[in-house]
Amino acid sequence: MPAETSKSKVRRRIIRRSSKELLPQRGEPPSRDLEALLQLKNQHVQKLGSVKHAVNVHFSQPPSTARAVWRSAPVQQLRCPIDESPKRATESAPAHSGFSSPLRLMQHAPPGYDCPFCGIAATLPLPAPESAVVLVDANVYALVPTHHYAGIQGNCLVIPRGHYENVLDMPDDLGREVFRATRRLAHAMLAAFGCEGISTRQHNGPAGNQDVWHYHLHVFPRYANDGLYGGQKVRYATEERIALAARLRAALP
Ligand SMILES: [Zn+2]
Repeated sequence: MPAETSKSKVRRRIIRRSSKELLPQRGEPPSRDLEALLQLKNQHVQKLGSVKHAVNVHFSQPPSTARAVWRSAPVQQLRCPIDESPKRATESAPAHSGFSSPLRLMQHAPPGYDCPFCGIAATLPLPAPESAVVLVDANVYALVPTHHYAGIQGNCLVIPRGHYENVLDMPDDLGREVFRATRRLAHAMLAAFGCEGISTRQHNGPAGNQDVWHYHLHVFPRYANDGLYGGQKVRYATEERIALAARLRAALP
């Protein structure tokens, strides 16, 4: 049996078992207790390894109250308990830091994290079509992600091919390559979509809204009064991502 298949089987088994233990039983009223819900969510994070999975599993059959509480919970209360583990934070500077003083790093990926961006990087330079890859450089790639925001389509992620969790452990040289890819995407967006502006954003740590533990930079085409920052996150259809990626690839300088 291929390694991938058995890995995903194990993952599914963990999710099933975890859901059985943590989700409200059938017929049980949804909890209105914020603390209890946050505790459940943190247990999910510990068991499943990522906020994204925790949310997917916990709210796959969401009681509406729980969903509302989740959305309104302050970010700092959603901190993962793994954050508190002294083993997960180091005080030593990475060899490439270029700084003279010791640095504190921030790590939230659990042991054995099944990194989705490393998974795609491993397929390069011939990515699967559904991964909607736009460009592949020596150490960086970019793709149209699974979601768009505020109805603005054609957004991209710039991602290092090697695994770096966040901006704190990224080497400067790699940052230069990320910047170059960002500029190429910005030119492609302008040419392909005729957008009126470009914005970038990049999240680090759970309090910074990071939910994939591999550095990535968002690049957005912008239009006057497009409402990006207040807009809803909506999943693309796979065909939409592929079509947008093709338009951007054709317009890359
Ligand atoms: Zn990774």
